[in-house]
Amino acid sequence: MDHFIYKDGELCAEGVALSKIAREVGTPFYVYSQATLERHYQVFADAVKDIEATICFAVKANSNISVLRVLADQGAGADVVSVGELKRAIKAGVPAQKVVFSGVGKSRSDLVYAVKAGIRQINVESEEELVVLNEVAQELGARMPIVLRVNPDVDAKTHEKISTGKSDNKFGIDWKRAVEVYQRASNMAGIDAKGLACHIGSQLTDLEPFRAAFRRMKEMVLELRGLGLDVSRVDLGGGLGIPYDEGATPLPVEYGKLVVEELGGLDVEFEFEPGRMIAGNAGLLVSEVLYVKQGPEKTFVVIDAAMNDLMRPSLYGAYHAIVPVLQPEVDNEQMTYDVVGPICETGDTFAKGRVLPKLAPHDLVAFRTAGAYGSSMSSTYNSRDLVPEVMVKGNDYAVIRKRVDIEALMELENLADWQG
Ligand SMILES: *Cc1c(COP(=O)(O)O)cnc(C)c1O
Repeated sequence: MDHFIYKDGELCAEGVALSKIAREVGTPFYVYSQATLERHYQVFADAVKDIEATICFAVKANSNISVLRVLADQGAGADVVSVGELKRAIKAGVPAQKVVFSGVGKSRSDLVYAVKAGIRQINVESEEELVVLNEVAQELGARMPIVLRVNPDVDAKTHEKISTGKSDNKFGIDWKRAVEVYQRASNMAGIDAKGLACHIGSQLTDLEPFRAAFRRMKEMVLELRGLGLDVSRVDLGGGLGIPYDEGATPLPVEYGKLVVEELGGLDVEFEFEPGRMIAGNAGLLVSEVLYVKQGPEKTFVVIDAAMNDLMRPSLYGAYHAIVPVLQPEVDNEQMTYDVVGPICETGDTFAKGRVLPKLAPHDLVAFRTAGAYGSSMSSTYNSRDLVPEVMVKGNDYAVIRKRVDIEALMELENLADWQG
């Protein structure tokens, strides 16, 4: 459920007409509904209310500090994968004690920063990282809480580029070695081994891969305890899929039930790292139609948003519903279009053969389910503006990332001194 609905024939974000924002901010822009963000956080929190859990929003899904503040106010922690994201989370008001730090390539200076910041835990992804972290923590006179991210070798049955839990993926420590590594970690002076983590992929539309991963986690916790080692935390990652089209996806409450069923009796604190499930449906990308171009075989709708603003279609062949901002008449004419952006790459295509109400230049269209992995992946490729972001609450809206234009971008560059 979201708060983007047609009122008086026009698509609105909560109480604000998108056409009004378009006039005042210009297109393209991202728009988020605060009420939807809050609702999704609460739906997830409710789904896991029967167990002790910290919900750490995966910042890479949407890293805008205003979005993070909305979630922090609901009680969310943060799952970060860089020092940049860590700084954003802290700036947005997420308590350091609710921040977990994942990622296969944390540098020594990243680890120093995280230890000094006093975050909740580092999710260690290799033995090599563990050794460096142990050195860093000891140099700083700290004993850093960690969990070991295990690679459970489970097929998440999602797109190959967002599958992370197979043994040939770069993530985590192979589950067959993890017990040995945990034993080693437990004997390190700079390390406080708290438990295990897994994250098998994103946009999972089936609960069975989660079940397989959870079972493996449980076996490992029991094995570690059998060896006399303490295990008090289990981080189950994120990955719950959301509907981009009409297809059904598991409900958070079903996911929560599965966790209780498989791991409920384990006497650990849980962490969850949902990203897409919280932010996905809470955002739209709004764009204006520039041209309706008749090709020899196809009709192209050329819009002013491009792959640099929303990468998912060109990167993963991802589907986003596209809807007109002005509500079409009931008996409107349907057309079949390829919806494309202005960038000079054929990959800059949002949809092929999409049936849409007839469109004309200056019409506004909205991409649904663009709140996660939308603006956070945006770039300025082709020297386009960095797309602005807008937050709506009730009848109010605010620009929460301004448009970064070419003048501002060129300010960052200069000629070499020998170029005069
Ligand atoms: C990307 C990521 C997440 C979030 O995944 P979603 O599918 O957005 O829920 C959680 N944890 C880690 C370690 C990640 O890399």
